[in-house]
Amino acid sequence: MSLKEYHAKRDFTKTGEPAGSASLSSNSRIYVIQKHRVTHLHYDLRLEMDGVLRSWALPKGPPLEANLKRLAVQTENHPIAYAGFEGTIPEGEYGAGKVEIWDKGTFKILEVDENKIIFTIDGEKLKGDYCLIKLKPKTDPKNWLFFKKKARKS
Ligand code: MN
Repeated sequence: MSLKEYHAKRDFTKTGEPAGSASLSSNSRIYVIQKHRVTHLHYDLRLEMDGVLRSWALPKGPPLEANLKRLAVQTENHPIAYAGFEGTIPEGEYGAGKVEIWDKGTFKILEVDENKIIFTIDGEKLKGDYCLIKLKPKTDPKNWLFFKKKARKS
């Protein structure tokens, strides 16, 4: 996957964010949610897939309970190194504001295609099976739904 859009939006002489490059993934995939204080506070979900962090902005935050559906707006892929980034992006730069790690851990993919990702999160705050489902084409193609599945009965 490409980081072209990520690089085009940023001036790395001004922002402390990592320039980074796409890299090969290891066995455990990185999961991170960053809290991003901009004009509209939001959370950024990032999942390591194909050597980059696929990214979604969560305007209303992550769903903590099963079946609470939250909008997830797909944003540009970020480099793997971004998973560790915390800091303040300077005024006038893309995404200006404070970034802090809200939750982190790993995830495992259960099912994936171009319209959905079903995965198990092993984070400090989020744990369990989650779904990202792309909304129907009539809406913005960047719009997905993010929700937690009910715990499997054993
Ligand atoms: Mn953001």
